[in-house]
Amino acid sequence: MKRKMMTFLLVIVLLAALTACGKNGGKGQAEERVTQAVKATPTATPTVTGDVTPTPSETPATPTEIPATPSGTPATPTPAEFKAPERNCSIDFPTREVYHYDMDLTLDTKADTIGGHVVFSFYNDSNDAWDKLCLRDYPSLFTDPQAIGYLMSNVNGATTVIENVKDGRDNSALTMTRDSDVSVIWLALSKPLAPGESMTLEYDFTTKIPTLDDRFGKASGIYNVANFYPILAEYTKDGWSHVAYFLNGECFYSEIANYDVKLTVPTGVIVGSTGAEKNRAEGDGTVTYTYNAPFVRDFVFSASADFQVRTETHEGVRVNVLYTDQYADAVDLDEVAMYSQIAAKNALAAFGQAFGRYPYEELDIILTPLSAGGMEYPNLVQIGDSAYLYGAVDGVDGSAMYYDLQIVVAHEIGHQWFMGIVGSNSGREPWQDESLASYTEKVFADYCNSIGGDMRSPYGTDPGADLFDFKNKIMVDMQREYGLLPINHGVHDYRSDSTYVYSIYYMGALVMEALEDAIGQENFYAVIREYVHRNAFTNADPESFLELIYECAGTENATVNAIIDASFDLSNYDRSRLPR
Ligand SMILES: [Zn+2]
Repeated sequence: MKRKMMTFLLVIVLLAALTACGKNGGKGQAEERVTQAVKATPTATPTVTGDVTPTPSETPATPTEIPATPSGTPATPTPAEFKAPERNCSIDFPTREVYHYDMDLTLDTKADTIGGHVVFSFYNDSNDAWDKLCLRDYPSLFTDPQAIGYLMSNVNGATTVIENVKDGRDNSALTMTRDSDVSVIWLALSKPLAPGESMTLEYDFTTKIPTLDDRFGKASGIYNVANFYPILAEYTKDGWSHVAYFLNGECFYSEIANYDVKLTVPTGVIVGSTGAEKNRAEGDGTVTYTYNAPFVRDFVFSASADFQVRTETHEGVRVNVLYTDQYADAVDLDEVAMYSQIAAKNALAAFGQAFGRYPYEELDIILTPLSAGGMEYPNLVQIGDSAYLYGAVDGVDGSAMYYDLQIVVAHEIGHQWFMGIVGSNSGREPWQDESLASYTEKVFADYCNSIGGDMRSPYGTDPGADLFDFKNKIMVDMQREYGLLPINHGVHDYRSDSTYVYSIYYMGALVMEALEDAIGQENFYAVIREYVHRNAFTNADPESFLELIYECAGTENATVNAIIDASFDLSNYDRSRLPR
């Protein structure tokens, strides 16, 4: 997920203002969007609306007023033995058995429902016997939109109907119970599933698609259908993980699976989805698309009769931009689609070189109304209208056209590596996907600049350097005081949504930049490449990233050690894997 673009200048103001909190949601942000148009002018005084209340008189001292503490360690330490795959390496699908979802779905555009029959084959990948299964059913939360963070109350949701739940081992019917968090469903197994044992779970479901212009909902003629079917939760060393829904970020956590999906939609409805289309069959007023999506951790789609599709390829990957003519009176949507595609191809090139090449056939970019700037799903990203309706459309001070749009596209595509290829617990360790995806914005910009483009930020040449310096302990203390550090809290552990956003997205990205500065860009890219290589198509624990930093930089690098000590709370981590 990418929050709407804001200036780093704004962050400095917010350091003193992270006290108020509230929920952003839907059209309640109209005022914020207007404000962003002002913020796009670098000389304008930032004005904040929405969920934060600035107190300019409490603005902390700027870093230049604080004497820097020189670091005692040079910035080029790499131990010779650190090995990582070459730049632009391939990321190969695993040969091991993975879970499999076989789904036969129908989108009913009269009832606004999605549903069908699911045959889900999986195995117990833990060392514990499972006497129950945990499924997540997020759509049922939309019966009470305020409970999940929306301000409005007319989203028209409904509890998902789940029927005919069967354990394929003996065809026994399974009984289902819901927690008070209605997204958490428990299925009691009559016979425990032993470690390594396989089973097939079958069920029918019907999910109401709420009336919402957001990542899950129908609005403006677009169906965004995500997190919509009952999906197996992730089993961890602490049992089944079911972090409560979080509107301003993610709680999603699932295993890699192969998906074979038949999706029937009314004739004329155009679909962008996870995976790639393998067949198309005309019915009586319907079209049934067949998709195959290998090695992904979710299946989503967007559908609209109004979609136009712009397709190009990048090194064999089909990059589709799907968009409607909404806002055609305000912006040239063909141009927006073109810049989205340019950014997508540059992002695939940049991240392919830095982290390993995108391993899938296709990538869909959906331009859609959204409460956030963008939202990531496997093989599909949603880009919110705020990314192209406001911001540096004209190229402020010579910067790139549609700078905000391109950065949001890059961020969401960065998630294809950090969320998609390498999974993690997005609710408990959001830095593993969001801080890394925010850092990929810099990887993208550096790549574009290196090939003769100009992705300098119109918001300042090096805002991170102005914001803080990890060598400066006083600044670190101050950021701790304002709750922005450490960056490895869970989504519900931050004192407010704003603290979460500025910790994970801004501070988190700056921590990554500081690490890049400390060990050098090539070394840092190599660390991330090795992280992807070791954890591809699994869920990575947080220690795995930090231990690679130490493997590359050694344990005696004072700068690296200071950065990690300042920005992570290691008390809940397995210290035996962290060599200091
Ligand atoms: Zn994100």
